[in-house]
Amino acid sequence: MTAKACPQCGQTNTYPDGDLFICADCGFEWPANAQESPEDRRVVRDANGTVLTDGDTVTLIKDLKVKGSSITLKVGSKIKGIRIVDGDHELDCKTDAGSMMLKACFVKKA
Ligand SMILES: [Zn+2]
Repeated sequence: MTAKACPQCGQTNTYPDGDLFICADCGFEWPANAQESPEDRRVVRDANGTVLTDGDTVTLIKDLKVKGSSITLKVGSKIKGIRIVDGDHELDCKTDAGSMMLKACFVKKA
């Protein structure tokens, strides 16, 4: 079994003890079957239900008008290096028109 990083201090000097993992460095204990840390980013899915992660490249599945401008991002536009963020618009990304937030339901993973 590979050592898990401690959710509290980030060290990998940890060991399993029954149903718990224990960090030898800071003494933190957590359930061995936990899915990473609770603050882990939520799962964001694209229009096809594919899970998106930081750094993914996506393409738009519809024209999107950029708020406060006359720019429209065209369907099929490729957007590289998305970042998953909290909130109503889950994707933080850089496009030809600048940085903006997009909804995951309007893109698909490239
Ligand atoms: Zn620790």
